Amino acid sequence: MKDLQKELDERKALHLYRSRRISEGPQQPEKVIDGKAVINFCSNDYLGLANHDAVKQAFIDGVKTYGAGSGAAHLVNGHSKAHHALEEELAEFTGYPRALLFSTGYMANLGLAQALVGKGDTVLEDRLNHASLIDGGLLSGARFQRYAHNDVNQLEEKLKTAKGETLVLTDGVFSMDGDIADVPAIAQSCKQHDAWLMVDDAHGFGVLGEHGKGCLEHFQLAQNDVPIYMATLGKALGTSGAFIAGSEALIETLIQKARPYIYTTATPPAVAEATRASLKLIQQEDLASRLNDNIHYFRSCAAQEKIKLSESQTAIQPIIVGDEKRALEMSEKLLEKGLLVTAIRPPTVPKGTARLRITLSAAHSRQQIEKLIDALVIINGF
Ligand code: PMP
Repeated sequence: MKDLQKELDERKALHLYRSRRISEGPQQPEKVIDGKAVINFCSNDYLGLANHDAVKQAFIDGVKTYGAGSGAAHLVNGHSKAHHALEEELAEFTGYPRALLFSTGYMANLGLAQALVGKGDTVLEDRLNHASLIDGGLLSGARFQRYAHNDVNQLEEKLKTAKGETLVLTDGVFSMDGDIADVPAIAQSCKQHDAWLMVDDAHGFGVLGEHGKGCLEHFQLAQNDVPIYMATLGKALGTSGAFIAGSEALIETLIQKARPYIYTTATPPAVAEATRASLKLIQQEDLASRLNDNIHYFRSCAAQEKIKLSESQTAIQPIIVGDEKRALEMSEKLLEKGLLVTAIRPPTVPKGTARLRITLSAAHSRQQIEKLIDALVIINGF
């Protein structure tokens, strides 16, 4: 048997050890972490819906109606009226014929790839795709290749030599960089080569586009450009789970074949009720404009202080540090000043690109953003 402790110690020495902090209270900008009061700049709760009164009330009402748990997988008897209504509402909102709920985004991505491709087929992925897309592609058994980040010419070259059914997978908004994939060009290449395209819009759904419909609305694309659209519900929508939207035949295929859909317990119906409330709020109120104001304010304050940011125009605003140890030290120093920003290190990001991943929310105040900028100036001497 291998020496696990030795492996863990080596990881520590390389500044790659990961540990959890204990969080108290609801997800919101002001939090208590490991007993310390902090302002939170690393949540994906982009619209502040995780602790919204209407969303919480829908959850509570959902528990009163359905109880705490779903009791079974969707194909046994866990598929409640609440799940079904949410699927119909998601399909309508995204403009696809149907949508299918998954218990997590990770499982949606594993299930999609495994249901559509296998031995003899090809999966092509952006090099910076989220781990769940990469794992989905690898586990599908298809020939797996990555193309350089957002490099549509390289994708095009790979499409020319792809064998069997071809599935192209890309993040819509890249989770660690915040930049948006060139979906129009990717979609065109996929159409030309008769390849499936799935966009994982975990970080765009609810926030991008005029009505928060995500990166397809941002680019004014539709189902005939992107036949498979996936998004998670644990980020801008503030709850949990994920969905895949597509044609009637695609969704029926997933129900028949996607193992991470078939063999897992459905999320509690109350979560679906809470998500329905979030979806309603997104349609009734312009929540994203508050977020966009905060993004612009953060970027303009950073520019004034000559803090080097990436090109991202989304809620994800990384500061690339490079060295793992330095990223950890900066994160610790921010914490001492009451600011929670996680250091993201390899293998989550490529070697030499460790970073502070700052995420902004509609719920942040301008004063909180100013506090972060002041602290960044002090700790790094920008
Ligand atoms: N895709 C992307 C792009 C993500 O960022 C994440 C989660 N961070 C997932 C999928 C997985 O979603 P979930 O957390 O619901 O498993």
